[in-house]
Amino acid sequence: MNKPFYITTTLPYVNAELHIGHALEFVRADAFARYKKITGHEVFFNTGTDEHGKKILETAEREGKNPKEYADLYFEKFKRTVSALDISEDVHFIRTTDAHHEHAAQAIWRLCRDRGYIYKKNYQAKYCVGCELEKTDSELDENGRCPIHPNREIELLDEENYFFAYSKIAPHLEKLYGDKPELVIPDFRFNEMKAFLSRGLTDFSISRLKSKMSWGVPVPDDDEHVMYVWFDALTNYISTLGWGSDDLSLYEKFWVNGEKIQFCGKDNTRPQSMMWQAILLAAGLPTTDHIVVNGFLNAEGGVKMSKSLGNVVTPEDVLKEYESCAGDLASDVLRYALLRHSNSFEDFSMTAENIREYYNAGLANGLGNLVSRVMKLAEDYLVQSEQQNLLAHIEKDSSFKDVMENRFDFKLAMEIVWIYISNMDESIQKEEPFKVIKQDREKGIKMIKKLVLELLHIANLIEPFMPKTSAIILDLIEQNKKPEKPLFLRI
Ligand SMILES: [Zn+2]
Repeated sequence: MNKPFYITTTLPYVNAELHIGHALEFVRADAFARYKKITGHEVFFNTGTDEHGKKILETAEREGKNPKEYADLYFEKFKRTVSALDISEDVHFIRTTDAHHEHAAQAIWRLCRDRGYIYKKNYQAKYCVGCELEKTDSELDENGRCPIHPNREIELLDEENYFFAYSKIAPHLEKLYGDKPELVIPDFRFNEMKAFLSRGLTDFSISRLKSKMSWGVPVPDDDEHVMYVWFDALTNYISTLGWGSDDLSLYEKFWVNGEKIQFCGKDNTRPQSMMWQAILLAAGLPTTDHIVVNGFLNAEGGVKMSKSLGNVVTPEDVLKEYESCAGDLASDVLRYALLRHSNSFEDFSMTAENIREYYNAGLANGLGNLVSRVMKLAEDYLVQSEQQNLLAHIEKDSSFKDVMENRFDFKLAMEIVWIYISNMDESIQKEEPFKVIKQDREKGIKMIKKLVLELLHIANLIEPFMPKTSAIILDLIEQNKKPEKPLFLRI
């Protein structure tokens, strides 16, 4: 019996403008979820929206809406983006305003409190509402502002709050980091977190006075406080499985007995691999197996994408541009650019112009052209009944399997496939099956059959990354037909 897999993205705040950098995380998680399903695992794939907190309250007020109304609109927009990225249809959406989620957040609070990890004290702190994180002076820039949110004033808080006993759980976190060197992937992020841990942990505030900030989950047994965002939001990873409800079957299957993988961007490393693991340990629940962290996708020159700089590329922009030359495969064009031409773990830059180059080189001239050439030969010279067994097994490709399963390096996995593609191009050029078939039919047929099988292997390998393209190629092979027009017209 194959192990079940639990795979999740982080939940974007509902006031975030989703650019292709955010799409990267969803597409990576989706590619891994699809890969696991294809290789015979049962998968629970989670995403959703983080809907509480001051930032959302502020944005809603600015737009003259109540926060729930505002969140509802954003959630619908988020679902449309997710579907435009061709994220697996069986993905589960959790909203942190769902009643069962709020109930679970209160249940985990009680558990942590009753086990001695939550207490009340006076709170004074510098706080970035943009990050929804407390900042120490050393984390602020020369103007006393958050380097990620230089346009926001840092807030000074002074009130009575509930605190999470980070310092008390620290020895358990140290043991976790000692026992699980692959908890955070890649290594350098794991080492960053270990260094953070070794500097000592400071307890952090997990509530706000309701009178000052009402938009949150009520703290159990205290009418004056609401939970602050992280404590509430992080719980989604298990509330989505029904933890805290009467039916624990999904939680047991995927969180207790499954392998649990969380994908996130580098700005989310600390909340996912430290705070959330600490909350789980404090509640006495199993911790995550791997947190896979990607770098930032920046605009030209390594500059952050931002509305004010006018350099934002959205998923919708890309899809619109490629609909005319790739039709339904436009979502695969975006997935291709993000998965093959990203860096799996470090920061990288990508512009609309870059995507055009990647498209022409890798898809129009590369894969698309190869499909046309091979399938023309097949249609002209092969009899369909001659075709060999079309079932192929993706996991039999050991180098591909290794980079997918052990290294989570999707860029490298794609590179392997594109090496196969260029090798095939080269061998067609060199061995000229289109000439051979006219002189030695038997030899020519053998060569064409081999090409079709190699193309079949490629179609199987790209399924997690470019599901629609994969399906079209498999269909052409099955029907022994060349495409009516190129899959990817040059742009
Ligand atoms: Zn910030």
